[in-house]
Amino acid sequence: MDKLTSYNDYVEKINKFDESSLGNKLDYTWLLKNRVIPFYEDNDSVFIFACKRETNLILNIEYMLKKECQVHLIADEDLDRLLKYVDKRDIYKSNNKISIFKVEDQDETDNIEIIRYLNNLIETAISNEVSDIHIEPQKDKVRIRFRINGRLVDKDYLPLEHLQIILTRIKVLGRLDLAERRLPQDGRITFEYENRDIDLRISTIPTLYGEKVVIRLLDSSFKYNTLESLGLSLDEIKIIERNLLKQNGMTLVVGPTGSGKTTTIYSILNRINSEEINITTLEDPCEYKIEGINQVQINPRQGLKFSNTLKNILRQDPDVIFIGELRDQETVETALRSAITGHYLLSTLHVKDSVSSINRLKDMGGENFLISSALNLVVSQRLVRTLCPDCKEEVSEDKFNLGIKNSFRAVGCPNCINGYTGRKAVFELLEIDDQIKEMINKNKSYFEILEYCKSKGFKTMREKLFQEVIDGITSVEEIIKII
Ligand SMILES: [Zn+2]
Repeated sequence: MDKLTSYNDYVEKINKFDESSLGNKLDYTWLLKNRVIPFYEDNDSVFIFACKRETNLILNIEYMLKKECQVHLIADEDLDRLLKYVDKRDIYKSNNKISIFKVEDQDETDNIEIIRYLNNLIETAISNEVSDIHIEPQKDKVRIRFRINGRLVDKDYLPLEHLQIILTRIKVLGRLDLAERRLPQDGRITFEYENRDIDLRISTIPTLYGEKVVIRLLDSSFKYNTLESLGLSLDEIKIIERNLLKQNGMTLVVGPTGSGKTTTIYSILNRINSEEINITTLEDPCEYKIEGINQVQINPRQGLKFSNTLKNILRQDPDVIFIGELRDQETVETALRSAITGHYLLSTLHVKDSVSSINRLKDMGGENFLISSALNLVVSQRLVRTLCPDCKEEVSEDKFNLGIKNSFRAVGCPNCINGYTGRKAVFELLEIDDQIKEMINKNKSYFEILEYCKSKGFKTMREKLFQEVIDGITSVEEIIKII
């Protein structure tokens, strides 16, 4: 490609370009309306002038031309001049129809409308922090649902005739087999949105009324970069920080699936990330990318398992190691041993509270003296939906006999979803002091350790969740499921 720097270069390029080569595959009126001008084409790519990079538009052009679309960014005022210039040329005035789908009995203009609808749906999902989009064929319609804050909500209903066009579009973008309708498939798309790369994981499965699609949205550019933004109090952050400054030891983040453990771990990694230390992670899969951290993805089929890969990582001179999950005895033992020999270990466990993690490590084959010397801190967490301040309603009935007299319940208004506006994490922090270490060595029970912690002012998750209800942050209904 020649150097293109001035307005005259652009004009020259456009003059040399034979737009007719694009045939009737592009609707120029539509292109001009969207402020892009094609100026060059080779076997693999089409090149366009534009003043910003818009994923939707690029995807549409790529889809229409079955070629990659390369964007050459130019200044706003140059694009305005160019648009005026090309507007005088005949080819751009011809009203070519877009032939995107060869679906019989379908008006082609309907198709582009549906593609726009789908693009719009994905953008709406991203801007509303939706985690999954469900496209579900039913007997006489297609239901669209969003998962927001962990719950599904109805988003829209479409006529059943539109299902095939949507499926075709999604399958093409996700590089799935268009003809295969009887077997489940999966694929992925990277969607650029406001300078962020959003990974879309596509999964289809045949149901009674047609193929159901679930699009999972993974925001790979990590957005919670501070511990403060997670909702930790200043005291809690101090506890985490003083433990992370140690060169030996282990911090565990525990809780059920979907409690936000990964987000907390990444915020911690982000906090300690610096050129002075080697941070290596071992994950399944790598959910977010962090610059400067060596992230290794587990691949058991290729022999890359947690236990053996951890041993390889230890030969890579690591300071901090994050192991996605402690799942088997070998991993637990290697992790504990490395945590007492000059490495800092971070990992997660599926247990209900922080004190339980001690017994879980024992159950998984960890020896008492290893656990007591390695373990520094356990962070247990839950996610609760937060009540909408505009519509929450005070109630004075203790519906579940929890001993909470006054609380608020979810109602629902145009500013929220079913009475909730978002989620917050609630934390329980257990710092392993010398007394607890001795109790671990002496094989003291869960209750004995818990009693000791309480005597030192330790607040349990249950107490913390109750406080959120009393403060009107969340509802009794929201915590009853997780206490
Ligand atoms: Zn509301």
